[in-house]
Amino acid sequence: MTDHHSDSFDFLAGAELDTLAVRAGQVRGPEGEHSEPIYTTSSFVFASAGQAAARFRGDDPGNVYSRYTNPTVRTFEDRIAALEGGEAGVATASGMAAILSTCMALLSAGDHVVCSRSVFGTTTVLFTKYLQKFGVQVDLVGLTDLAAWEQSLKPNTRLLFLETPSNPICDVADVRKLADLAHSNGCLLVVDNCFCTPALQKPLALGADIVVHSATKFLDGQGRCMGGAVVGRADQMAEVTAFLRTCGPTMSPFNAWVFVKGLETLRLRMEAHSASALALAQWLDEHPKVGKVNYAGLPEHPGHSLAVQQQSAFGGVLSFEVLPNTREAAWTVVDAARIMSLTANLGDAKTTIVHPATTTHGRLSDEERSAAGISEGLIRVAVGLESINDLKKDLDRGLSLL
Ligand SMILES: *Cc1c(COP(=O)(O)O)cnc(C)c1O
Repeated sequence: MTDHHSDSFDFLAGAELDTLAVRAGQVRGPEGEHSEPIYTTSSFVFASAGQAAARFRGDDPGNVYSRYTNPTVRTFEDRIAALEGGEAGVATASGMAAILSTCMALLSAGDHVVCSRSVFGTTTVLFTKYLQKFGVQVDLVGLTDLAAWEQSLKPNTRLLFLETPSNPICDVADVRKLADLAHSNGCLLVVDNCFCTPALQKPLALGADIVVHSATKFLDGQGRCMGGAVVGRADQMAEVTAFLRTCGPTMSPFNAWVFVKGLETLRLRMEAHSASALALAQWLDEHPKVGKVNYAGLPEHPGHSLAVQQQSAFGGVLSFEVLPNTREAAWTVVDAARIMSLTANLGDAKTTIVHPATTTHGRLSDEERSAAGISEGLIRVAVGLESINDLKKDLDRGLSLL
């Protein structure tokens, strides 16, 4: 093994995303393996007592223990960092562990956070229940309401947090404007880039400071493993790493290997997901049993022009309201689907369908749900890689019964 893994990547200087997705982060071992190996080992052996001492002192950067570093996990970290265009990446046990680790590393009691109201439900719970419990104040604002973001800033605001496009309404945030707002107030903008991935959107290039991921979704892309990642400036990622080493929500080497292989096909998959989602959104838009369709690829969507600027495609997730806009009608469509999987997960080769009002957004009050645009007749589809014709037929099974 090389001691300093980054020294060997000169050949990738200036390389484009497709090359980095396949090549970045791999350090070939003495066996000359072509594919990245999985280092399933909890600890590492030292060559001498002197080397052991140097590793524990931090003078020798080699491996000690897989809670600290693991070669397969490091390959994933270096590859996702390269794709996002960040200085460093940190892998975590799940997407939630990525968000928690970022907060634990960079926030202290007395700090204030402004978070978009339209983030993953568990993220809201993390911020409002657990961070508040440890003395971090949190305010929630509408994702696209720039004035609300501005008004909620306080002298102790340390971090702004958002997802774009949002789930399940596909609202689009102006990342550049929010980054400017954050920086003019001395705080950091953190973007959860789960829905687009770096194949479609690079928040760091738009001015964000940190990107977090649920690798569980599109980075894997086939629904096999839990994982997460944080990417950003090297000094800030060193803080996140220090938290992980001590507190332990690290990624397993096996999962890292699955994500490394997933990244190799990320752009091809994201373009296929996006092309099918656009075709399905256009078809739904014309369907007599369908009302509103939420997908930023449709020209009438309020986030369309911003998405065109920020993203290279519109992603794989859309939602729509059935007619009549009732729970019963939505459940009829969900229950009639035979190809689409009824599951709240997304970012899989297999298309998933879910009724947000009674599942992913079931914890919200009626007022919160309607403010978020989640009606009783709303259905979310995370479009997979099956034939688009078969997916249309699958939705028509239920729509034709309405
Ligand atoms: C799933 C998800 C998370 C949480 O990730 P886990 O891997 O399930 O912990 C965070 N953000 C978004 C946008 C997600 O979809």
